[in-house]
Amino acid sequence: MKTSKEYYEKLKSMKPNVYIGGEVVKRDDARLKPGINVISLTYDLATNPKFEKLLTATSHLTGEKINRFTNIHHSVDDLLKKQEMTRTLCRMCGGCIQRCMGIDAMNALSAVTYGVDQRFGTDYNKRYLKYLQWFQKNDIAANCAQTDVKGDRSKRPHEQKDPDMYLRVVERRKDGIVVRGAKAHNTIAGYAEEIIVTPTRFLTPEEKDWAVAFAIPADWDNVHLVCRVTNPRERKKLDAPISHVGDVESLTIFDDTFIPNDRIFLNGEVEAAGILALLFALFHRHSYTGCKPAIGDITMGYTALVAEYNGVEDAKHVQAKLADLISTTELVYASGIAAAYTSTKDASGTYIPNTVYCNVGRRHAGINTYHEAEILADIAGGLAATLPYEEDFYNPKVGPLLNKYIMRKADVPAENIHRCYRAIGDAICSGLAGVMQIAGVHGGGSPVMEEIAILKQYDIKQRKEIAKYLSGIRKDMPV
Ligand SMILES: Cc1cc2nc3c(=O)[nH]c(=O)nc-3n(C[C@H](O)[C@H](O)[C@H](O)COP(=O)(O)OP(=O)(O)OC[C@H]3O[C@@H](n4cnc5c(N)ncnc54)[C@H](O)[C@@H]3O)c2cc1C
Repeated sequence: MKTSKEYYEKLKSMKPNVYIGGEVVKRDDARLKPGINVISLTYDLATNPKFEKLLTATSHLTGEKINRFTNIHHSVDDLLKKQEMTRTLCRMCGGCIQRCMGIDAMNALSAVTYGVDQRFGTDYNKRYLKYLQWFQKNDIAANCAQTDVKGDRSKRPHEQKDPDMYLRVVERRKDGIVVRGAKAHNTIAGYAEEIIVTPTRFLTPEEKDWAVAFAIPADWDNVHLVCRVTNPRERKKLDAPISHVGDVESLTIFDDTFIPNDRIFLNGEVEAAGILALLFALFHRHSYTGCKPAIGDITMGYTALVAEYNGVEDAKHVQAKLADLISTTELVYASGIAAAYTSTKDASGTYIPNTVYCNVGRRHAGINTYHEAEILADIAGGLAATLPYEEDFYNPKVGPLLNKYIMRKADVPAENIHRCYRAIGDAICSGLAGVMQIAGVHGGGSPVMEEIAILKQYDIKQRKEIAKYLSGIRKDMPV
């Protein structure tokens, strides 16, 4: 397993292809550091005796100890531990742990490459297993680039005016393929070691060129990572864990990029493209049943703390709102547990979480994202938005006055109240908060995508038969 220092050294050795604000930067650029700090946690805690059991697993390929972020789920317990690990780490970094998508993509590829080989006699699974072994041994941090830019949403890939709106193969060679297109909103890509590309939707027979999956180093030739950085507001005096972690998304452009054969996991098998797209989304939505409860934990913590500092903790409406937050948080977590317990073992040996439970959980989290923030905004009051600059609290003239007028309960020191409000501002009233809220709605798929997944799987017809029986339209009891 790698250390966070080794991970950072690796990033520093990579070719510069990250664009921020009009210039190409190296991966030791200060603007990437808060995001790198998040990923570093996944390495540091894997060797911390308190977290080691949760953050490590045993490779089913080599029997060696590996970081759980490189593990392929081979039991219900694997799925449960991944969910718990995600919640634990998201609590600790105050937001998105970001490394989940790499392993979610690897789990999807595990099942799909096996299935495609069985059906078409290809050798993708052999290539994949070789890649996985390397991935585990080198403890790789990866992005999954699934979301295409998609152009006109009413048109299929082959109907777009510009066919590059969905990433596609533009040339097939003996030793590999050349791909062109762009993948949007790629979290961690600017400080990932690898980028794993999967299709974004079901495809039709004429869409062979769009049915492609592969993995490449993030600094590969003709790959441009155009990154938008969201870091917390800078602090000068009140250092806090939340001020060291950030989030970066990339528009990842594949500018006629050559992909060698051993890195290709799907190439023209349209029948499998949609299954891979759905399966990645499914594993990722299961990860969301871990991360979204952590956001609930954090929101709930700030709500209870600020209510206590303000002296309103016992007010009936505050208690009701806390119960509301607990309900969303724990229902989403429970859906992930249910999805793990009712998972199925795929022919490849990979455990696939239950589709309905994952999707209802992810959907419930998504539609409550702004509601949770609204509860905190309600209970915290306006100061979360209008808190004076940090420096003014240290100005010899107005600083003592700010500390006097920020006071709430007499036994809570002014600095604690200041810290609490600055953190709440970061959590719900900052650039980073805005990005995280949109991520809460769209990450892993927009709510409508979860609705489609639920409706496709759910037996509504059976429910109609129950209604018919109860109303006497049908005589026999439906089973
Ligand atoms: C912070 C953040 C991080 C992310 N990280 C990643 C990542 O690392 N990797 C990755 O691959 N993706 C990532 N995503 C992308 C995420 O999965 C997408 O945002 C999501 O799938 C929606 O796609 P879109 O943003 O293109 O929105 P759109 O596809 O434009 O969807 C917006 C809305 O348009 C409507 N709509 C769209 N298409 C149709 C249609 N055909 N018919 C009817 N209505 C339609 C729906 O109401 C939908 O909610 C991330 C997103 C965010 C916000």
